[in-house]
Amino acid sequence: MDCENTRLTQQRKVVLEELKKTTAHPTADELYEVVRKRLPNISLGTVYRNLEILSACGEILKLDLGEGKKRFDARMDPHYHLRCTQCGRVFDIPYVPLDKEIEERLQGVNHFKVTGIQIHFDGICEECLKKMN
Ligand code: ZN
Ligand code: MN
Repeated sequence: MDCENTRLTQQRKVVLEELKKTTAHPTADELYEVVRKRLPNISLGTVYRNLEILSACGEILKLDLGEGKKRFDARMDPHYHLRCTQCGRVFDIPYVPLDKEIEERLQGVNHFKVTGIQIHFDGICEECLKKMN
């Protein structure tokens, strides 16, 4: 994909703006519901396609947390994710560098150069823990 010359269309601009407003890591469907309020004629397919282009061009992150659905994140500084198995919400947690030994070992595997990393942890959030007590 030619990202340099990929024009930021009005629709794509709105999709990106709305994703930047949330820390909820929405799916395409969830973001569509928000974008639709500003662009009533936009289709789910268009939102989906724009999210794919934005992630392919490194503008946003596409997250697969093993839920059978993709989530999107406009936060691009390195960070990890916590997913609550009870309510399904996804939280940001600060980036913790992997220790040198793990990193070196990864670099050595099949001469593979690591260019990105996504780590997520499953657990139970504070709110859900309170409800359980
Ligand atoms: Zn929860
Ligand atoms: Mn995030």
